[in-house]
Amino acid sequence: MTDPLEHDPLAFAETTTPAYAAAFLAEDFAYEIVDDGVVLRGRCPRCRATVEANAFENVVVRKGAEGGSFVQGPHPIPVYCTCLLDHPGRPEGIEGCGAYWRITMNGQPT
Ligand SMILES: [Zn+2]
Ligand SMILES: [Zn+2]
Repeated sequence: MTDPLEHDPLAFAETTTPAYAAAFLAEDFAYEIVDDGVVLRGRCPRCRATVEANAFENVVVRKGAEGGSFVQGPHPIPVYCTCLLDHPGRPEGIEGCGAYWRITMNGQPT
């Protein structure tokens, strides 16, 4: 879990930069293969909350030669910040700080 003290309560803004995807993959990134897809976990590069995303249609999971699984993303996986902490100006019924980005998984072994 993210330490709430590290959370950055920025004003809500729908925004992305190419650096978000790289930052998401670089820090505390993990994924778990489930029945028909992958669950991704990491930190929002903007507000630093823990973010979870499901990818079912954008990935291919296949068995590796030695029993491990590999995940391939034929299409980039969209990830949105799903932070439940406070961001001033966030519209009613919306989660997150507004940050979004896309990641591509290229045959990463589990
Ligand atoms: Zn947040
Ligand atoms: Zn965020």
